[in-house]
Amino acid sequence: MTRNVKIFRHPSRRAVLTGGASVGLLSALGTGLRAQGAATRPSSQLPQRGNFLIKGAYIITMDAQSGDLSDGDLHINNGAIVAVGRNLTVPPGAEILSGKDMIVLPGFVDTHTHLWSTQMRGRFGDTAETIYFRTRNILAPGYQPEDSYQGTRLGAAEAIHSGITTAVDFFHNNRGMDHVNACIDALKETGLRCRFHFGPATTTTPTQSMDLAGLEQLHQGWATTIGDRPLSLGLAWRGPLGITTPTPGEPVSPGYSVAKTEFETARRLGLPIVVHVSGVTARQQFDALVKGNFLGKDVQLAHFSNASAAEIKIAAEAGSPLTLTPLTELRVGYGVTQLGDYLAGGMKVGLGVDSNSLAGVADMFTVMKTFQGIEAGRLKNELAITPRKLLELATIEGARSIGMDDRIGSIAAGKRADVIMVNTQALNMGMFADDPAHLLVEAARPSNVDSVWVDGRLLKRGGRMTALDEAAVVSGAKASITEIVSRTRR
Ligand SMILES: [Zn+2]
Repeated sequence: MTRNVKIFRHPSRRAVLTGGASVGLLSALGTGLRAQGAATRPSSQLPQRGNFLIKGAYIITMDAQSGDLSDGDLHINNGAIVAVGRNLTVPPGAEILSGKDMIVLPGFVDTHTHLWSTQMRGRFGDTAETIYFRTRNILAPGYQPEDSYQGTRLGAAEAIHSGITTAVDFFHNNRGMDHVNACIDALKETGLRCRFHFGPATTTTPTQSMDLAGLEQLHQGWATTIGDRPLSLGLAWRGPLGITTPTPGEPVSPGYSVAKTEFETARRLGLPIVVHVSGVTARQQFDALVKGNFLGKDVQLAHFSNASAAEIKIAAEAGSPLTLTPLTELRVGYGVTQLGDYLAGGMKVGLGVDSNSLAGVADMFTVMKTFQGIEAGRLKNELAITPRKLLELATIEGARSIGMDDRIGSIAAGKRADVIMVNTQALNMGMFADDPAHLLVEAARPSNVDSVWVDGRLLKRGGRMTALDEAAVVSGAKASITEIVSRTRR
C-alpha cells in the first residue's frame, strides 16, 4: 500500500515523502519521531523574558487589595510581576514603556477550547448535512500530524493576539502520539500558557480506550518535552455518557469500564479532568457522573447545559468547576446560557471560547459582552451583571476555576507576568468612563490589544505579534484545510 504521506516536522524543516514509501518505513519513521519527542523539534525564537517598566497606565489589577490604579506603574522582570504601584523607581536595566492612554490588566483565561479544529472556521453550513458536529466528524479523520499543528498554531496565535494568555485546550482528535507532539510543538512555538488535555479521537468508540500508555509516557517526560514553556497536562475525558452506569448486582458494561479506567488513570497521575456536559445529552451525562462518583474539584464540567437548580447544587457541593462558552452554546443551539443561575448556585465559573472555529473568534471581549446582553435580556434587568463581574470571570475567577489563581489571573507581585495592555486611542474606545471595565466589556475588540505578555515574554507589541509571522500562520492553516477537505471528500 502506498499513499502520499507528509512527515510532520516544522514548516521550515519538514520533509515530504510522496509515494513509494512502504508502510514499514512509515511506521519506523513514526516511531523515530515519537522516540525523538517534541523536545527535538525546533521551537520558534520567542523573545526573552525581559525587564520592563510600564509607566503611567490605568491598571486594573483584579487583586482585591490593590484594586485599580490610575497613573500606575508595573514592573515585570524575568517572567514575574515584581511590583505594581505609583511612581515606582526605574529598575536598573528596565525598558520603559509608556502606559499613556493604555488600560493594563491581567491576560484573559480561556477555560475551554479546542485549538486543533481552528482551520475549520467558516465551514459549518446552512443544511443538515453541513452542521457543526457532522462537518467536524467528517473532517477530523482527515487530519495528519501537520494539520493538528496548523490548527493549534493558528488557534493559539489568534488567542494571544486577542489578549488571551491562558487556554485550557481539549484535544479530542488524538490520532496518535505524532499528533499530540504536533500540538505541543505548536503551543511551544506560540508561547501561549496552556493546559493541554490529552483525549481520544473523534472516532474512538465507547469500548475503545484512549491511548493511556501514551498519556503515561507523555506525563513522565513532560518536563523535558515542554522545556521552559508554561504548559501543563490534563485529561480530555468523554465521560460515561451513553454507557450504562452499573447498579449494584448488575454486570459492568465494557464501555463503563473503559471510561472509569481513563478517569482513574488521570486521578492516579494527578492530572485535572475536563468533561463535556452539553446539549440534549447534558442531563444523561450529569446523571452518569453523579452515579459513578465522578465529580470533584479536579473535574471541570464544560457547558452543563440547561442545568436545574438541584443539579447545580450537587455539582457545587462536589466542588466541580464550570466553564461556560456562550458563543458556541448559542451558535450550536444548546440554549441560552443562564450564567446567573450557576453563579447563584455557588459554582466556580470560568469563561471560554470553545473552538475558534465554532465561536468564529477567540475573543474574550465578545464573550463578556454576549453575557452582559444575555443576562440583562433574559432577566429584563439592565443591572443583571456588571462589567466588573464579567472581567473577574474572564481573569481571576477563570484562573481560580482551573486551580491556577496562585500563578495567574491578577496583577500582584510574585505572580507570573501574564499581562495585556489595551490601547484606548482608537475610534471605538477613548478613555471616557470612570470605570474602564465598561469600555473593556462594551467597546473593546482584539484590535485594541496593543501588547501581550505571557510568562514575562512580550508576544504582541504595538498591535503586532513579535515572534510569529501572522501571514505564514494563516496561509499554513489554509493549505492544511484544503488538504483535509480533499482527503475526506467522498
Ligand atoms: Zn468543548
